Amino acid sequence: MGEKASPILWISRHRLATDGQGVTTLVGFYGCPLRCKYCLNPRCFSDDKKYTLLTPAELYSKVVVDDLYFVATGGGVTFGGGEPLMHVEFIRGFRSLCGDRWRICAETCLGVPTENVLIAAKACDEFIVDVKDTDGEIYRAYTGKDNSLVLENLKMLLSLVGSERILVRLPLIPRYNDEEKRQSSIALLKGIGITRFDLFEYIIK
Ligand code: SF4
Repeated sequence: MGEKASPILWISRHRLATDGQGVTTLVGFYGCPLRCKYCLNPRCFSDDKKYTLLTPAELYSKVVVDDLYFVATGGGVTFGGGEPLMHVEFIRGFRSLCGDRWRICAETCLGVPTENVLIAAKACDEFIVDVKDTDGEIYRAYTGKDNSLVLENLKMLLSLVGSERILVRLPLIPRYNDEEKRQSSIALLKGIGITRFDLFEYIIK
């Protein structure tokens, strides 16, 4: 298990309080099911595919240099991208290498097959879920995809890991939603049991 290589675009070390608890190393996967209008990481789906194929063991050997930072701060590795839950076998294999010593976090849109979420629920300590907006029309206009799978997967993840391990991102997205719409999303999500929110605004230049 976990020997298959996955496409990795970047490894960013020594991050603090930006993507998970403690000192983290952010690992960005190639591949994303969405096409967000203001995507900051279009390399995740560009045709040039300038990624590196790594196995979990190869990634482990690169990030283990920060073991002391991770352990001292309660940090670890955050998988992002792109969509990390398209690579759950890789994440499961990586978890088997680092055990419980490091905190494993996934930054995900949850727009992936439900079985991937089931695997990730066992392999990750925390989920930063980029819900964007719960309104189906806004979501489709902004991402090009339907959000019913996202909301179903979020409910299932919540039932599996509990609200303390889920942080939901709800951005204000210029020209797509507004504060009133965001408050509607918050109300809906609180109604299903979500308690932790990251509220911010996309700055479009
Ligand atoms: S989910 Fe993230 S990586 Fe994927 S298209 Fe949207 S902003 Fe870009």
